[in-house]
Amino acid sequence: MRGQQTSSCITKMADIWTKAELYIQVDKIRDKLHLRKAPIDSIALIKNVCVNPYVTTIGFESKSICGMLVKGQQSTYIGLNANHTPAQQNYYCAHEFIHYCYHGDDDLVLVCCDQISPGNMYSEWQANEGAAELLVPYRQFIPAITGLFCGYPDKKFKDLYGLLNELAYRHNVPKTTISNRIDTLAYEICQYTRGVPLDKLEIISAKEQKRRGISVKSYNDILREKYQSENTRRPTKQTQAHSSTVPMGNVPVRELQMPTPEQLKRLRRRKRMTGRIEVT
Ligand SMILES: [Zn+2]
Repeated sequence: MRGQQTSSCITKMADIWTKAELYIQVDKIRDKLHLRKAPIDSIALIKNVCVNPYVTTIGFESKSICGMLVKGQQSTYIGLNANHTPAQQNYYCAHEFIHYCYHGDDDLVLVCCDQISPGNMYSEWQANEGAAELLVPYRQFIPAITGLFCGYPDKKFKDLYGLLNELAYRHNVPKTTISNRIDTLAYEICQYTRGVPLDKLEIISAKEQKRRGISVKSYNDILREKYQSENTRRPTKQTQAHSSTVPMGNVPVRELQMPTPEQLKRLRRRKRMTGRIEVT
């Protein structure tokens, strides 16, 4: 049975973790499984770690359904959205992997969507943040992004934006994951650019930053300003029509939630879906 040799790297969640504590746990997984080079193939990871894994794609009608997990005592089933790109599937598979590691011991059934209910806020934040840290580790990302943005006042918007594409390709994640990483690590990036070594960074969540009154401008803010500045200097028909829009996929961290009973009924009717679905 797969999974037994690596299960010791997974610490069951006993309490609420801070962002820093979550990163430490993800680091333990990476160390144990020797996951040091990007990109990380999260589907291969599932197949190597989980108990009797089966990973498939499902032709969900809506792209807002990100993935589903059925974690039983004897088997693990993960369904990814067939209408997502391979990079999106890689990210959402990592998201389900974090659920697998830390949320529920057995008989866990989850369907993750792009909206979140208040009761699932913490576990979905943890799955999102854990997946991002697993696939785009801050120790690799922060030096890379600061290096790429070095000398940004002299660079064009399209060149800076192209750098985000490069990072997304490097880690096999959607561009939105890179964009979100820039925002969620803005405080840590700021410390690094001021000379704080990587292993001395204070890692705190956006919520904790807000509580302390910390407000940091991110590279996304710089991109927005760059885009607006260039389009203000050289207005065109197109940029005038979209002057308030930055085409960089800069959306907030995707929020996920359990489906409503009506959504579940529709899911059950889908011919290609297998397995038992329950809302717990
Ligand atoms: Zn989820």
